[in-house]
Amino acid sequence: MPELPEVETTRLGVLPHVVNRTLTATQVRNPNLRWPAEVPDSLIGQAIQEVERRAKYLLFKFSSGSLIVHLGMSGSLRVVTPADVPKKHDHIDLIFGDVVLRYNDPRRFGSMHWQPGPANDHWLLEHLGPEPFADEFSGPYLKGLAKKRKQAVKNFIMDGRVVVGVGNIYANEALFMAGIRPTVPATKVTLVAYERLAAAIVDVLGAAIEMGGTTLRDFVGSNGEPGYFKQKLFVYGRAGLPCRRCEAELKAKVIGQRASVYCTNCQRAQGFTAI
Ligand SMILES: [Zn+2]
Repeated sequence: MPELPEVETTRLGVLPHVVNRTLTATQVRNPNLRWPAEVPDSLIGQAIQEVERRAKYLLFKFSSGSLIVHLGMSGSLRVVTPADVPKKHDHIDLIFGDVVLRYNDPRRFGSMHWQPGPANDHWLLEHLGPEPFADEFSGPYLKGLAKKRKQAVKNFIMDGRVVVGVGNIYANEALFMAGIRPTVPATKVTLVAYERLAAAIVDVLGAAIEMGGTTLRDFVGSNGEPGYFKQKLFVYGRAGLPCRRCEAELKAKVIGQRASVYCTNCQRAQGFTAI
């Protein structure tokens, strides 16, 4: 599933090919995504001014509004030419003269919505928490929000109303880096621990974006390789293997229906309450 770093890598990959380009035509071969795809004809003749990202949504900004694209479970965008024959699951083309932005999605859990005016007014975006790279995302912010949260800290940081973009892989890794056991109730995690956790989330996502960035050269005509395949993971997918820090056997537990892996030695049950 494309996570925030893959979406950011996609943004950086497609941006130079479409910004300031005028949409000349569209072709919708199959509109049946998670919701029916909204690609209004009124966009033809308009130029894309910017490609932004909010959480895992790509925002293609036109003068009259934004095309909001989500890659779902299996979606991808490729930059091709009109001569490239569509492959299976290539559902939508946005055509900019000799450049085609082609949306492929085998499982069709992705989406394409049109929002006139500010993109953040759209119902998919209006209740989202801050971006992990935003100034307002910090240890004190997390501690303040966690006051009445009895849920596990791992579920807390994976809640998009708290902070966006912390998928399962990155939640596991960031909690290890911060030394917090994923099962600890959010309300019990100390401010010091939340400060470490906020920094770890920024570090792990930033590193993944950087790794994804190294595939950008090959972006045109390919799907690119998700950044996390290249990242050295501490805990995710390593249950039963030795901890990279202390060599204790890593434990696995399902929390909120998601696989969680942690080190009982490096990640304390008290969530740093002793400090
Ligand atoms: Zn350890």
